[in-house]
Amino acid sequence: MDSIMRLKTLFICACMLFVTGCKTQSFTMTKELSALKTGYEIDRNTTATYQETIAFYKELAAQLASIQIKPFGMTDSGFPLHEIVLSQDGDFDPKSLKESGKLILFLNNAIHPGEPCGVDASMMLARDLFLEENLSALLENTVVVIVPFYNIGGGLNRGGYSRANQDGPEQYGFRGNARNLDLNRDFIKCDSENAVSFNMLFNKWQPDIFIDNHTSNGADYQYSMTLIATQKDKLQKDISNYMVEQMLPDLYKKMEQKNWEMTPYVYAQETPDDGIMGFLDLPRYSSGYAALHNAISFMPETHMLKPYENRVESTYAFMLSMLEHIAVHAETILDVRKRGIENIKAQTEMPIQWELDKTQVDSLLFKGYEAKYKKSLVTGLDRLYYDQSAPWEKEINFLDTYKVSKKVVKPKAYVFPIAYKGVAERLEMNGVQVDRLDSEMVSEFEMYYIDDFETVKNAYEGHYLHYNVSLKTVNKSWKYKQGDYIVYTGQAADRYIVECLEPQAADSYFAWNFFDGILNQKEYFSSYVFEEIAAELLEKDPALKKEFEQKKKEDQAFAENGRAQLSFLYQRSPHYEQTHRLYPVARIVK
Ligand SMILES: [Zn+2]
Repeated sequence: MDSIMRLKTLFICACMLFVTGCKTQSFTMTKELSALKTGYEIDRNTTATYQETIAFYKELAAQLASIQIKPFGMTDSGFPLHEIVLSQDGDFDPKSLKESGKLILFLNNAIHPGEPCGVDASMMLARDLFLEENLSALLENTVVVIVPFYNIGGGLNRGGYSRANQDGPEQYGFRGNARNLDLNRDFIKCDSENAVSFNMLFNKWQPDIFIDNHTSNGADYQYSMTLIATQKDKLQKDISNYMVEQMLPDLYKKMEQKNWEMTPYVYAQETPDDGIMGFLDLPRYSSGYAALHNAISFMPETHMLKPYENRVESTYAFMLSMLEHIAVHAETILDVRKRGIENIKAQTEMPIQWELDKTQVDSLLFKGYEAKYKKSLVTGLDRLYYDQSAPWEKEINFLDTYKVSKKVVKPKAYVFPIAYKGVAERLEMNGVQVDRLDSEMVSEFEMYYIDDFETVKNAYEGHYLHYNVSLKTVNKSWKYKQGDYIVYTGQAADRYIVECLEPQAADSYFAWNFFDGILNQKEYFSSYVFEEIAAELLEKDPALKKEFEQKKKEDQAFAENGRAQLSFLYQRSPHYEQTHRLYPVARIVK
């Protein structure tokens, strides 16, 4: 069905609503609500446009005092982000809701608008929670916050071709946003206005559980739904244990009972037969970002080759299963998170890098299709295909353990100059308390020199990302001015603070180029002028002379390179700038 027809149908349905002028608080089935259908319900190979999505929620909110829809911040498309809150008692204030013991479930949709199952599933779920009597109990101790359509710019760029390997819907949005950024890489650097608004909305609610709905690429297998849960070894231990031991088994069971048996996300080297690995969800990704805020997070990834209908229904089933789990365990989850956050605040060391532990191999019962090879009609070479007439079920290897490969001592505080306003803004958007020095601070700090690093060759999401960063740690007497920023640790957001400010963390602000100014030397010397000064330096400093002579003896290339020798002495002279490669964020460790 074309979009104008669908929009008309939506509004015809909406017009059938009996508008009384006052919203109903009742959760009994109403004819009016049941008349409100999504385009998907009319044509199963259809997903709602951005405008249809907002119109649907506005119609719902007009009928129900328990639903609020409000614009929240801007996006790169020029259209605002929207915040939808489902709160049974009509309270939409995060503070009072949390005080009354409500658990916050946060749903995000259309971060990749070509993977829109969550858009349609969330609309239906929001309605059904009020329409169907047996579901209304699920909101007794839970408040649901929905981002109905995150990547609006991508959503407006609609077509039917960009997901070449996907079975429907007929028309859908594009992955890149209005600036062609992948928003599922933008949670830390926040280049897009979308991410800025999202960071603020997420931290307004500080959700206990977060779901970001997707569709996968990759191998073929029998499941419609696959699941990325927060990498268990990256989540705070108490919270992770709850997720692994209580929540995940129950979600898998509930999905099977609903006939949507699911599997961990199929992250395979070749085909699933060879085993699958856990996904390291770095903070640039939604679930990795949420982990920095100690939220239990999920990226459900429906399978691209299953009909759109299966993908929407299994996404709906997953969110419903989550609500059912929460309804029984909300109190425990709130307790576990509270304890986990207190432990994070008190932790003296923080991990900043992880790597797959190949010695920890679990086994997983998996339902696949036989991977076979035949001659390609295109290339004449052997090509892979999955034979759907040859399904199999067997145990495969599952490598899902990541070990900490680098950790740091958590400092008492980080201090950095007022010049790095963008860094302070991002910290504040994330609920970090950022203070200002009320007078000059001269002290001995622990500081880093950036010793070495590598940089990606091609632009990646608007940046030239640094990696493999090595540091030289020095204790240095340094001065910060009145008004400079100081961030004390011991906050609920300690993980966010540490993983953003420690330059060796994969998604640190340093990695994302916020400090690139320090990487270039600003002043140099002319060899012919510096000759005399260098000679004088050697004469005045016997230790330096000894080091210099030693290096000449040991390093032939150095001995034959006059400029290198002068540079060696220049770097050890007062003329050399101390700020070259000096990371300006100091650590107060004592
Ligand atoms: Zn995706």
